Amino acid sequence: MEGADGMTGFGLDDLPLRDELRGKSPYGAPQLDVPVQLNTNENPYELPEPLVRRIAERVAEAARTLNRYPDRDAVELRTELAAYLTRTGKHPVGKENVWAANGSNEVLQQLLQAFGGPGRTAIGFEPSYSMHALIARGTGTGWISGPRREDFTIDVAAARRAIAEHAPDVVFITSPNNPTGTAVDAGTVLALYEAAQAAKPSLVVVDEAYVEFSHRDSLLPLIEGRPNLVVSRTMSKAFGAAGLRLGYLAAHPAVVDAVQLVRLPYHLSAVTQATALAALEHTDTLLGYVEQLKAERDRLVAELRAIGYEVTESDANFVQFGRFEDSHTAWQRILDQGVLVRDNGVPGWLRVTAGTPQENDAFLEAVRALKKEQQA
Ligand SMILES: *Cc1c(COP(=O)(O)O)cnc(C)c1O
Repeated sequence: MEGADGMTGFGLDDLPLRDELRGKSPYGAPQLDVPVQLNTNENPYELPEPLVRRIAERVAEAARTLNRYPDRDAVELRTELAAYLTRTGKHPVGKENVWAANGSNEVLQQLLQAFGGPGRTAIGFEPSYSMHALIARGTGTGWISGPRREDFTIDVAAARRAIAEHAPDVVFITSPNNPTGTAVDAGTVLALYEAAQAAKPSLVVVDEAYVEFSHRDSLLPLIEGRPNLVVSRTMSKAFGAAGLRLGYLAAHPAVVDAVQLVRLPYHLSAVTQATALAALEHTDTLLGYVEQLKAERDRLVAELRAIGYEVTESDANFVQFGRFEDSHTAWQRILDQGVLVRDNGVPGWLRVTAGTPQENDAFLEAVRALKKEQQA
């Protein structure tokens, strides 16, 4: 193909790219225009009208002073996030415990910039959130794929052995885990934390992107007295604000000092801060949607089992189901019926996000038809 600059056949690999990025592809869930999109764990509910108006007000206010850089330390926002965590996490935290960035992916990137990097390594227990490995790669951090059991729970003894063997600088524990939906208990986190401190010591990051959907309490209280433990959160899922790009962490204040060494100055725009503050004013309404989604998630689990699928126990707003001889073909057959689910590359399994009751009905109809087809 000829580019605008007339250089034929020039591609990515001809650039003086870092070696570890050669031949790699970017993160990408397909963004296909189909009627029912249940593939990226988004919240299906649009923001309620009163919140939309409140965002407009707060953004208008912020717009007047866009000639100035935003509050570099996002103090008001961190104060409100701390209040939310204190109220819902059964553990008191203050703004000095909280840090915010453009999505929890940026929070995780800042953590790896500060605690990972060239010559250092991070471990995750896979299958898990693919971005952990990608952010590791992007920050020059070596990646270690740790084990999970056949049923996708974490085998504590095996995980401790992997930590002792590799002595990673950063340990990721995703709870509830994506794409499996599996949550871990406090005992597991404590056992892995202990192993990680004995081996290095290293930073343990508990990614709680889906915790509001869980049957279990948040692991937030575990940060008490454990300065190397970080809990990361996001407004992308429970708050129904994936488009906002707002993630945050809670940890010892020293961790907050550490990420400030690597964050870009003024990384969080005044518009983002204003929008997030407006959303936090409507927390109760938004958590009401979460209750509906939890009920729909439980319904998906029950109905998928009734149809004859295997389902992994889920504490998130999605469900992993199978098994398929060829999950990609199954994914395509569901898509042919207008329903987009996710093929995460876990052999035999697919993942569906809990949508509105109507969307979930459409999905269930599609997988019922698929089951009949496969039995015929
Ligand atoms: C969706 C998701 C996130 C959220 O990323 P944002 O950048 O906040 O949108 C983080 N961790 C996991 C495990 C996720 O699935």
